Amino acid sequence: MRSLRVSIILSMVIIFSLPSCTLNLKAEPEIYIRFNQLGYLPNDVKTAVILSYNKLEGKSIFVYSNKGKEKVFTTKFGNNLGAYGNFPFTYTIDFSSVKSIGEYYFKYAQQNSYTFRIDENIYNGLADSLLLFFRVQRCGYTDPLLHKVCHISDATSIIDGKKTITKTIDVTGGWHDAGDYVKFLNTTAVATYLLLFSYEFDPDKFGFDSNKNGTPDILEEAKIGLDWMLRSYYSKNKLVTQVQNLRDHEVGWRMPEKDTLGFDRPAFVGIGKNLIGIYAATMALASRIWNDKFHFPEFSRQCLTAAENIYSIRNQVQDVDSSGSGMYLDKNYEGKLALGAVELYITTFKTNYLNDATLLADQAGSDFWWSWGNLNSLAHYRLAKFIPRFTDFIVKNLEEFNKKKKQNLFEKGTDLAWGTNVTLLGITLQNILYKKLTNDSKYDSVASSQRDYILGKNPWGVSFVSGFGKNYTKNFHHQISFLKGKLPGGFSAGPAAKAFVDKAIISYNKPDKYLKFQTENDYYRDDRMDYITNEPTITGNATAIFVFGNLAFGKKK
Ligand SMILES: [Zn+2]
Repeated sequence: MRSLRVSIILSMVIIFSLPSCTLNLKAEPEIYIRFNQLGYLPNDVKTAVILSYNKLEGKSIFVYSNKGKEKVFTTKFGNNLGAYGNFPFTYTIDFSSVKSIGEYYFKYAQQNSYTFRIDENIYNGLADSLLLFFRVQRCGYTDPLLHKVCHISDATSIIDGKKTITKTIDVTGGWHDAGDYVKFLNTTAVATYLLLFSYEFDPDKFGFDSNKNGTPDILEEAKIGLDWMLRSYYSKNKLVTQVQNLRDHEVGWRMPEKDTLGFDRPAFVGIGKNLIGIYAATMALASRIWNDKFHFPEFSRQCLTAAENIYSIRNQVQDVDSSGSGMYLDKNYEGKLALGAVELYITTFKTNYLNDATLLADQAGSDFWWSWGNLNSLAHYRLAKFIPRFTDFIVKNLEEFNKKKKQNLFEKGTDLAWGTNVTLLGITLQNILYKKLTNDSKYDSVASSQRDYILGKNPWGVSFVSGFGKNYTKNFHHQISFLKGKLPGGFSAGPAAKAFVDKAIISYNKPDKYLKFQTENDYYRDDRMDYITNEPTITGNATAIFVFGNLAFGKKK
């Protein structure tokens, strides 16, 4: 099998190194048009990237209305922007002037593109679908989607440093982190925080209550995280930071209820200022929501007590937690602890929390990134309501992203690392925060470029969100997705540098259908074995929920 695959790849390399006149004989499109396949809001900046084997200067490309098939826009290709991978010629076109509501497609010579829409409501429903992913990730007796109740004995032992204690502890529930069945406190807290933050940010847009039980779906989901987090705070100075270790990856692809390690799942315990920060932030915010909106004072008090208790031990513990299998370890703590302090201030009005938050948020500074470990913008956003100069840290991030955007054909706001899709959407998220504080549209185009990249305006012409766009990710690195043949709300981690993926030495499941679009800097495989570029995560989805929920139009019913 391996030698066959190598010979296929070699023959494809030879084909793509032939002169372009030979390529015209092949039954493949003359050009590749990359754009947001879901579509655009009427007033968006709208651009597409064209990859071509041939020179197109002076030739025309059109936008047609799908209804009536009439031409609504014409433009001529300008100068070649330079080679991209196998394509010697690249161009961008700006069709922002097309604003009328409708369905459209591009036409070049005899070639028609996928259709796309322009409308105010094209993003409606996307965040709701992304939220379903969390139901698939649910563990224990939590009414999960696509699988049965699983891991009912979490956890079966406790690992504290080098000591193993044969004692059970109730950390059932919560969410599996990604395509595997390991649970982490850090990412659970970040995801829970973002779900709560989304709701509080705009209760109309995030208030959808599908089962009409009076609690919006997003808060029902957040409560899965909160309940597990409350269990994880099992002793005064200790948190369960992880359930199960990397043995989980060694027993084959299986449904969670059929996990051969189902009754052999240790809990790892640890503590650090970083975890205290995100834990306290999440609990303090939950306390406000359940007190103000749902008049559930008992649960609200329980959350606030947990937040204040854990925050009170911050000076007695190490800076960053290093327990568990070495996954999701923060490099620094200041941003998360600042967020904890400011959320406690907003909930309690105690000024010592505000003083702490101010000091820590200054120390944290701009992080020029977004991920489970880089949330400084959230602390700066919260503080900016009291001390406006904190907006400047978010501006510094957006300036940096804008600079990067101008340096590459597909307008990515950052270089690629592991899990970069979430970072790209984090740029859009930071612009949403900035606009709420300032009402300034200055960075709108850097924000919409990242959104468009995620939904198809990328080298591969793929939408990274399952079920959205015309050509979307199908082979997630996710066991339930593979065994059930679907993954509602799946959102892949996205491209990385090829050298980074190569280091993982992945045994791919099938030949690379995107081979001709790969470069050293931008590499993506829609292959279920690729845990670098194609694995969905709870923090990725939580970020995407905030972004796409805010782009939805009108009030939720
Ligand atoms: Zn489970």
